[in-house]
Amino acid sequence: MYTTMHHMLKMAKKERKGVGAFNIHALEVVPVMIRAAEELNAPVVLQASVSTAKYIGFDLLAAIVKNIADKASVEVALHLDHAKELKDIQDALEGGFSSVMIDGSYLSLDDNISITCKAVELAKRYGASVEAELGIVGRGKVINKYPYTNPKDAKIFVDKTGVDALAVGIGTHHGQYQAKTDISLSALSDIHAQVGIPLVLHGGTGVKEEDLADCISLGMHKLNFGTELNVSWVRKAKEIFNDAMPDDSIRELLIPCNEAMKRTIQNKIGLVRK
Ligand SMILES: [Zn+2]
Repeated sequence: MYTTMHHMLKMAKKERKGVGAFNIHALEVVPVMIRAAEELNAPVVLQASVSTAKYIGFDLLAAIVKNIADKASVEVALHLDHAKELKDIQDALEGGFSSVMIDGSYLSLDDNISITCKAVELAKRYGASVEAELGIVGRGKVINKYPYTNPKDAKIFVDKTGVDALAVGIGTHHGQYQAKTDISLSALSDIHAQVGIPLVLHGGTGVKEEDLADCISLGMHKLNFGTELNVSWVRKAKEIFNDAMPDDSIRELLIPCNEAMKRTIQNKIGLVRK
C-alpha cells in the first residue's frame, strides 16, 4: 500500500519501533527494495535525493514506486531527501511523492522556519508529509564533533512549522561507512524531552548497530540508510562484472548486485523493527 510518512511514523511511534528509510540510487533497485521489506512484513520509506529524482524523473519514479506499492502487502512511502529548493519540493509533490524533506539546516533558525513553513503549506495541498532538519549532520570530511541540535530551538521550530518529522544533529555523519560514529544519546534525550514528533536519524550507516535501539527508544522513528546500500551493490558489481563476458545478459549480471543490496536492507530492517 502506498502511504504517507506521517501515517507510517505515527504507527511506529505507537509500536515503539523504527522505520527504515533507504536511498534509491537507480531505478533498477526499486522492486528489490520493496520486496526486501515485504519479506520481513515491515513498512518502508524509499527516498531519493534531488539528483536521483531528476535523473530518473520525479513522475516516472513515483509512478513505478506507486505501482509496486499498491500491490505490496506492506506500507511504502516515497520521500524526497534533502531538498533545499521549494521548486524541487513542488516537482516531487506534483510527480506523486507522498513525502518531502525541506533541508534548511544551513540557514538561520528564522530562515529555516520560514522556508519550512512554505514547504508544509505546499505539501498540505497534496496530502503529503514533511520532514525538516535542524542542526548539523556531517557531510564530506569527518570531524570529531559537530554541534548538536539545540533542544529549545527544536521545540520552537516544531511548534512554529508543524512538520511531521525532524532530522536532528547528534553527531552522525553522511557517507561514513569505514568507521562508526560516537553519537550523543544524552543530546538526543534532551531533544526528545522537548519535541513530541518523530525524530529522524541521518547518516545511519555510520551508527553502531547497538546504538540503534536506544535511538528508537529516544524518539527516532525514521532511520536513514544510504551509503551502506550503495557499498554492498558496488562491491558485488565489481566482483560480478570483473568475471563477466561482453555478451552476458545485463539482467543476469544485475540480479546478484540487487540481491546484495536486499540483504543489507533486510539486516537494517531487522535492527530497527526489534
Ligand atoms: Zn541526510
